[in-house]
Amino acid sequence: MNKDFKKEVEEIKRKLSIEKVLEKYGMLEGLKRTLSNNLYGPCPIHKGDNPHAFNVSLDKNLWNCFTRCGGGTVIDLIMKIENVSFKEAIKKAKRILKECNIEEYERKFKNIERNKPLEFRLILDHTHPYLIERRIKWETAHYFDIGYCNTGLLKGRIAIPIHDENGCLVAYAGRAINEKIKPKYKFPARFRKSLILYNYWRVKNNDNNKIVLVEGFFDVFRLYQAGYDAIALMGSSISDYQAYLLEKLDKKIIIMLDGDDAGRKGTEKLIEKLGHKIDYEIIYLPENKQPDDFGENELREIIG
Ligand SMILES: [Zn+2]
Repeated sequence: MNKDFKKEVEEIKRKLSIEKVLEKYGMLEGLKRTLSNNLYGPCPIHKGDNPHAFNVSLDKNLWNCFTRCGGGTVIDLIMKIENVSFKEAIKKAKRILKECNIEEYERKFKNIERNKPLEFRLILDHTHPYLIERRIKWETAHYFDIGYCNTGLLKGRIAIPIHDENGCLVAYAGRAINEKIKPKYKFPARFRKSLILYNYWRVKNNDNNKIVLVEGFFDVFRLYQAGYDAIALMGSSISDYQAYLLEKLDKKIIIMLDGDDAGRKGTEKLIEKLGHKIDYEIIYLPENKQPDDFGENELREIIG
């Protein structure tokens, strides 16, 4: 067993309770709980009728079936229930742990104030020179429905529609068309950026098993043109809600934040928060470069 695998196994034994596993397999119902925090009852694995055959010490996270199944750790339990190898049981244990994490997130986020659906749509010009200057193809502008805005609060800016994870339009961001106009980006006052991963709703169900995580809108557009599914934090730091969305995604995440201090710190924090929960790879870009600075071919070389 290599070191990482050993660590993983220990973590599963610590974090995944036998009670949770029994619950997931619908095996908790026939068991009784004692005052000393044990479970006992007829064995739900071999389904015998001895009412004391099966015992679980919840404190020690160990189980035992006297009559037939043997006993052991939470991993032994999954092996026995599923009749699978140790390795397979680890995979299943990880899946259950992930489900538990997501349930926990969902409880936590149940009552948060969400972004409200927008009740209007902007008519945008996909052919504005600024988009050409940023090397955004017409098809890309059309696909993301971005373009120059002639009216309202975003007049004179490139408007970028933002959807929540279910594809509901909740805001427009407005990008200044030159560096003299401040601020660079305008967001609606009540918009909660921390609840959104930009472009998540489009790519979440794609067959593509790999997703590139970047900071900005234009990085997403550039990667799209290079043939990748990409999503953006809209900044360099990850919120709890964004972490939840990433974990739920169940895809390999290629982390490619900007090549500056904020980007590197953001990457560190992200790994701290999520590293043990997601499958990922980090791409460090050269100093002061962001994904949008590269051509499509270069990006394909960098990402592979
Ligand atoms: Zn048994």
